[in-house]
Amino acid sequence: MFIVRTQGQDIPCEIRGKIKHQTEAATPVAVGDNVVISLSPDGTGMIEEIGRRRSMFFRPSKGSESKKQIIAANIDQLAIVAAIRKPDLKPGLIDRFLIAARIGNLEPVIIINKIDLGGDPFPEEMRIAYFRLGIPIFLISALTGKGMDSLENILKDKKTIFAGHSGVGKSTILNHLMPGLNLRVCEVSDYSNRGVHTTSLVELFELPRGGFVVDSPGLKVLGLWEVAREQLDQYYPEFIELAGQCRFVGCSHTHEPGCAVKKAVDEGLIPAFRYRSYQTIYDSL
Ligand code: GDP
Ligand code: ZN
Repeated sequence: MFIVRTQGQDIPCEIRGKIKHQTEAATPVAVGDNVVISLSPDGTGMIEEIGRRRSMFFRPSKGSESKKQIIAANIDQLAIVAAIRKPDLKPGLIDRFLIAARIGNLEPVIIINKIDLGGDPFPEEMRIAYFRLGIPIFLISALTGKGMDSLENILKDKKTIFAGHSGVGKSTILNHLMPGLNLRVCEVSDYSNRGVHTTSLVELFELPRGGFVVDSPGLKVLGLWEVAREQLDQYYPEFIELAGQCRFVGCSHTHEPGCAVKKAVDEGLIPAFRYRSYQTIYDSL
């Protein structure tokens, strides 16, 4: 069952059978989709058509790796949440999410939570690297409220999906943003496993100051299964700039002599942590 909001009204809807099988994705309809419905006299509705998606955030469907499970559609931003400590910052994970954002056509925003814990600050090297890539970084404490104001400004009037390792403080941030939670719930059903009907909940919350946020369950298992190894450098803008200067066409920037990317890493022009995440992801593809 799906809840469709139309002209301020929430209408429980079923989905027309033929739509379920029209889409290549395992999820026929996702939170954030624009839909056309027909109304029954009893006040329920039927989803007849799904509008073209401007952006998508997805993961491989359980049991069928080649099928996509769309977690949310038509979202503007991906808020990548990490903590300075507890759990420790994982640069590799941030870079994976950045790739997912590009694939899904979402603007990435990095949120570093728990700055009240003190200790090691967010490494300067990372701050500069992401600044140069044009990605906003917010250093906040959801616990004390520090930095939450500027975060709220960037969420206003946009649809943002929150993702990050469990324990980094996503729920705490959302609770801070929405003291009187205005909850919307959507069921994302997985039609790929016939018989076993797995269901997970994706929630779309309306912000008091305008805009929506989505809390995404299970994103820590994010796989970049869609990316071909040879294309990984396309997701590293600071690599592509140099790729034309590599000695070999199609250089993978891993072992080839005369690699301009490796040279730039050695000279400190490309931060080592970005190159390490590239290597790790390259090996995993
Ligand atoms: P989630 O799994 O990402 O939703 O994380 P939670 O919101 O459940 O938070 C995990 C733990 O971190 C909880 O014990 C929170 O109280 C704590 N936490 C969240 N934000 C902060 C923060 O800004 N500072 C500190 N010190 N702890 C926080
Ligand atoms: Zn190279």
